[in-house]
Amino acid sequence: MQTPDQPILRDIVLVGGGHSHVGVLKSFGMRPMPGVRLTVICTDAHTPYSGMLPGYVAGHYDYDAVHIDLSRLAVFAGARFYRDEVIGLDRTNRKVLCRNRPPVPFDVLSINLGATPQAHGVPGAVEHAVAVKPIAQFNARWLALLERVRRHTGTTTVAVVGAGAGGVELLLAMQFRLRKELQLLGRNPGELAFHLFTDRDVILPTHNPGVRRRFDAVLAERGVVVHRGSAVTQVLPGLLRTASGQEVQADEIVWVTRAGGAAWLNDTGLALDADGFIQVTDSLQTVTDPAIFAAGDVASMVNHPLEKAGVFAVRQGPPLTENLRLTVQGAAPKPYHPQRSWLALISTGNQFAIASRGWLGFGGAWVWRWKDWIDRSFMRKFQDLSPMDANALRSQATSASTVALTSEESLQAISAIAMRCGGCGAKVGATVLSRALGQLQPVDRADVLVGLKDPDDAAVVRVPPGKAMVHSVDFFRAFVDDPYLFGKVAANHALGDFWAMGAQAQSATAIATVPPGLESKVEDLLFQMMTGALEVLNAANCALVGGHTGEGKELALGFAINGLIDDDPTQILRKNGMRAGDVLILTKPIGTGALFAAHARLAAKGRWIDAALQSMVVSNQAGAQCLLAFGATACTDLTGFGLLGHLVEMTRPSGVDAELYLDALPLLDGAQECVSAGIVSSLQAANVRLRRALRNQEAMVTHPRYPLIFDPQTAGGLLASVPADRADACIAALRKAGYAHTTAIGRILAQTDALEPIVLRG
Ligand SMILES: Cc1cc2nc3c(=O)[nH]c(=O)nc-3n(C[C@H](O)[C@H](O)[C@H](O)COP(=O)(O)OP(=O)(O)OC[C@H]3O[C@@H](n4cnc5c(N)ncnc54)[C@H](O)[C@@H]3O)c2cc1C
Repeated sequence: MQTPDQPILRDIVLVGGGHSHVGVLKSFGMRPMPGVRLTVICTDAHTPYSGMLPGYVAGHYDYDAVHIDLSRLAVFAGARFYRDEVIGLDRTNRKVLCRNRPPVPFDVLSINLGATPQAHGVPGAVEHAVAVKPIAQFNARWLALLERVRRHTGTTTVAVVGAGAGGVELLLAMQFRLRKELQLLGRNPGELAFHLFTDRDVILPTHNPGVRRRFDAVLAERGVVVHRGSAVTQVLPGLLRTASGQEVQADEIVWVTRAGGAAWLNDTGLALDADGFIQVTDSLQTVTDPAIFAAGDVASMVNHPLEKAGVFAVRQGPPLTENLRLTVQGAAPKPYHPQRSWLALISTGNQFAIASRGWLGFGGAWVWRWKDWIDRSFMRKFQDLSPMDANALRSQATSASTVALTSEESLQAISAIAMRCGGCGAKVGATVLSRALGQLQPVDRADVLVGLKDPDDAAVVRVPPGKAMVHSVDFFRAFVDDPYLFGKVAANHALGDFWAMGAQAQSATAIATVPPGLESKVEDLLFQMMTGALEVLNAANCALVGGHTGEGKELALGFAINGLIDDDPTQILRKNGMRAGDVLILTKPIGTGALFAAHARLAAKGRWIDAALQSMVVSNQAGAQCLLAFGATACTDLTGFGLLGHLVEMTRPSGVDAELYLDALPLLDGAQECVSAGIVSSLQAANVRLRRALRNQEAMVTHPRYPLIFDPQTAGGLLASVPADRADACIAALRKAGYAHTTAIGRILAQTDALEPIVLRG
C-alpha cells in the first residue's frame, strides 16, 4: 500500500484468510491508512465462506459463489497476498515463519486461521478419515467421492463423525447431493447409506430441544442411522470402531468433531486455552502480547466464551480492524463485547432450513431463502469490488501518516520522502545493503576469482579454455506484490535465455530499484526479493557476484548474466536452425500478459494468478536439456514479444515458413477468459504490429485464441523445432520431466514466395 509520497512505516501481517480478516482487508481497501501495509498469508487463494459450504456440497452453489477470492481482495485492499502455510512465530524477532518462503516481519500481527477438527487422539482417524477442515482438502476429497459414487455400482456408505450443527448439516447436504446424482444417472438412491456418530446422548448439543427434535425427525425420515453415545475410538481403512466395540463399515469417513487450535500455536509462547485456542482479551489482543491479535475460531475470549461459529468471526472483523488501526497509531485498542445469543440457520440439504436462537426454533423453505439472501448479500461485499474505487480511495490516502513512530523512524521517514522529491535515485545505503545481502549465500564457484565474498570494484570470473562466453541482460518492474516470488520469477526469466541457447549460466550481477522508506523495511524488501532470486540462481549453479541497488519509484529487478558454451558454433542452440518438416513444440502454457493485466483490474481469479506464478517459476533448464537430447534444430524462450514475435524471430533467419495450430496452444487457466473480455497486456498493441507476418490474418482474426499469439510472456516456456520423427518421444519426455503442458503447436514449412511466413490453423 505504498503511495508515491508515502513510505511504508508499519506492517500489519494477517495470518489466515478467515472471516474476520476478509473484513479487515475490505475496510483497509475502503479506507487505506497512509504508511501502513497489510500482508495476508493464507494457504488458499480462495477462502471458503462457511455459511454457504453445505449449500455448495448440496449442489445449490458453485465454487466461486461460496469462496472469497483473497488474492483479488488483496489487490483491492492494496495488500500483499502470500499464498503459503504459516508454521510458527519468531516472537523475539517479530517474524512469521512460513513453510515455503523467508520469515515475514511484522509490527502488528493478527491471527485468524480457524480451527481444526481434532482427529489426532483417535488412532487411524488422521490417516483414514477426512477432516472437514482445511476446507480445500475436504473439497478435493468430496469431489473425488462424488466421482466415485457416480462410477461405483452397489452400496456406498458414508459416515460422519460429530453431530454438532456442522456435522449434521454437512451430512444432510452430502446425502441430498449424492442421491440426486444417482437419480440423474437413473440409479436407485437407496444404494446410499449414511451413519452419524456422536459421543453425546443427543445431536446438536448446543441447540434447544425443539431444534433437536426437528433434526431428529429429518434424520429419521432420511434413513440416517444415528449412533448416539458412540464415541469413535478407532478408524481403520473403511471401518469405524466405537467405544462399545461396535464396528461399522464405511466407504468415506468425514470428521467434524470438536475442534482445536493448530499444533504450531503450542510453540509460540502465546497463552492458549485447554483446546489450544489463543486466549485474547476483550480488545482481541492476545493476553500474552499486545501487538498480536487473534479472531474467529482460533481466538478464545477469556471474558466471553463463545461457540465456534463463523458468525462470531465475521462480527469480530470490524472491532479487529479498528483495534489494528489504533495500535499502529499508538492509541489504546477498544474493548469489544460479543452478543450473547446468536441466530443459527441450519440447512437440511433440500433448500429447507431450521432457525435456532436461544429457545426459539422454526423451519421452512422460506428460512432457507432467507439464509440464502443473507449469505449472498455477505458474499457480494467481497465480490463486487471495483478497481476504480480502490484506486480513487488510495490516491486520496496520500495525506500525512498517523502512524506512531520513534524519533529515529521519523527522521528516516522524512528523509525517504525528501529523497523521493529530490528524485536523485540515490544508491541504497551501504548499511542496509550489507545487512540485507549479508544474510544471503550465493553458490560458491571455483571460477569466481573475485565475487561477493571478497568484493571489489568489479567481479572477476575465469573463462575455462575451450569455452565461449554468453551474455544476456533482463530487467523489469515488479508485476506482483510479493518480493520473494518476484525475485524468483525475475531470476528465472533472466536465466531462460541461457537454457534456450544450450548454455550454462556462470555468474550474475543484479540491478535493483527499491522504493525508499524506513531502513528496516527497505532491508527486508531487498532480503525477500534477493532470497527468491538467489534460490533460483543457486539452483542453476549461477554465482551472484555483484550488483547495484538504487532507490526508485517502483520495485524492479534485473540480472546481467554471463554463461559458458562450447567454443564450437555447431553446439549452440540458435533460433536459425529450423528445417522444413520439423514439429514446433512449446513447453509451457501462455497467457501471463493478459492474466496480470486482469489481476491489476481485479478481473482475474486468484487461482488463475496462482497457477500462472507457479508456471513462471518453473525453470527451463531441464526442458532445454531434453530438447537438445532429441536433436532440437532451433530454440528460444518466450518473453515479451509473445509467441508470434518469437516464432517470426526464428523462421526469418532459418529461411522457413511455419503453420501454427491455434486450437492446440496450451493456455494458462483464465487466459482465454481475459482476452475474451478484452483484457490484454499494455505491451499487446506493440506486439500486434507483427500481424503482418500472418498470411491468413483476416480469416483468423475472429478466432478466440488469436489475441493470445501476441500476448507477452514473463518467464515463458521454450519454443523449439524438433525433427518430426522424434517429436512425439520428445514431447513425452518433456511431459515426464515436469512440463505437463508441452504440446506440438505447429509445423515448419518450406519457405514460399509469400511475404508472410506464418499460416494460422484453427
Ligand atoms: C460444514 C460446516 C458448516 C458450518 N456452517 C456454519 C454456519 O452456517 N454459520 C456459522 O456461523 N458457522 C458455521 N460453521 C462454523 C464455521 O465454519 C467456523 O466457525 C468459521 O469458519 C470460523 O471462521 P474463521 O474465520 O475463524 O476461520 P476459517 O473460516 O476456518 O478461515 C481460516 C483461514 O485460514 C487459513 N489457514 C488455516 N491454517 C493456516 C495456516 N497455517 N497458514 C495460513 N493460512 C491458514 C485457511 O485456509 C482459511 O482460509 C460451519 C462449519 C462447518 C464445518
